[in-house]
Amino acid sequence: MLRAGMVRQSSAGIYSWLPLGLRVLKRVEQIVREEQDRSGAQEILMPTIQPAELWRESGRYDDYGKEMLRIKDRHEREMLYGPTNEEQVTEIVRASIKSYRDLPKNLYHIQWKFRDEVRPRFGVMRGREFLMKDNYSFDLDAAGAKHSYNKMFVAYLRTFARMGLKAIPMRADTGPIGGDLSHEFIILAETGESEVFCDRRWLETDILAEEVDYDSDLEPFFRHWTSLYAATDEMHKPEVCPIPAEELVTARGIEVGHIFYFGTKYSRPMGAVVTGADGAEVPLEMGSYGIGVSRLVGTLIEANHDDAGIIWPEAVAPFRVGLINLRPADDKCRAAAEDLYGKLRGAGLDVLYDDRDESPGAKFAAMDLIGLPDQLIIGPRGLAAGNVEWKQRRSGARQDLPLDAVVQRFAT
Ligand code: ATP
Ligand code: MG
Repeated sequence: MLRAGMVRQSSAGIYSWLPLGLRVLKRVEQIVREEQDRSGAQEILMPTIQPAELWRESGRYDDYGKEMLRIKDRHEREMLYGPTNEEQVTEIVRASIKSYRDLPKNLYHIQWKFRDEVRPRFGVMRGREFLMKDNYSFDLDAAGAKHSYNKMFVAYLRTFARMGLKAIPMRADTGPIGGDLSHEFIILAETGESEVFCDRRWLETDILAEEVDYDSDLEPFFRHWTSLYAATDEMHKPEVCPIPAEELVTARGIEVGHIFYFGTKYSRPMGAVVTGADGAEVPLEMGSYGIGVSRLVGTLIEANHDDAGIIWPEAVAPFRVGLINLRPADDKCRAAAEDLYGKLRGAGLDVLYDDRDESPGAKFAAMDLIGLPDQLIIGPRGLAAGNVEWKQRRSGARQDLPLDAVVQRFAT
């Protein structure tokens, strides 16, 4: 990412996102947003800076420890840079939702978090400041809360699949968030930080093949996708593993998402209650759900690269096409390249136009490094025959295309 000019480190685990990196981050964010919206969750935006009192109400202000960045404002009021938002969102909901009729609710936001990680490493994969999509579900009872959990389970599988990633849900420990039921969504990759285990059949599944109705009973779907064995290091016990060694895949994994059901852990101490149908007050049943949006950018590269650089899947590529003009000083080449650039953009395509005064070798290497799905190369020799060279980044396949057939080929 550094070599491709996507990000620049500001201090340990804190990065600026440069134009190319930001485009990918935005595309990843948009896929996450679309799948949240599809599931019925509603977008809000909560602040990064939170008051300490809220965290005293839940009892987590002291528990959270050194990962939390604590700040005092000019009036000596204790504040913090949010590592997560359970308290903040519970405060919003307790102030605005009073009746069971207003349930269920599922609120999400996509906002920067800060966790003062002991060992920030692997660039944006384990940063201190990072972008997360987090959402919070509120239900009247445990059955409703499980339905909300199942919705997120489906939405997460769909979200990662749309990016071309296979995320395997694994039964997980609940950690400092607390609670009863939890799954981590793990991408298999050699550079993963933890060891994971799963049924070999996971490698052949296709999530998007199934259309899911979020209002239907999602329990069968949930049971189906959790029936194939998958476990993180902490949860895997070789003695009791239900599948034979030859069916078991042992690999490294990257956690890209994590979902929790924790009932009334926050609503009870914070007094987030509604009046039920019988007039009695009941604390809300809650769950929380996180996706590492900025971590996904690094994860996508881990899953899609070769020795020359990145190979973006179309769904998240910063530009659809890279147009290389090999001879910007040549009038004919420049006219043809600029004409094609205009037409491709006119057809609604994102095009990166390389008209720099650099050697062809440097341009080819840079274009391969930044990994746009398709490259179009204009040079004097091809142009004389009315052709553009088309190179597909993933396969490396090259062919000549007649200049007037290019737009047609890429317009969707
Ligand atoms: P990890 O086990 O990797 O430290 P976590 O379990 O503490 O993560 P959660 O609280 O579950 O993280 O946060 C939700 C998601 O946010 C994670 O699944 C991960 O994708 C992402 N995430 C968490 N910590 C970081 C970080 N330091 N840098 C980038 N992304 C992160
Ligand atoms: Mg986690």
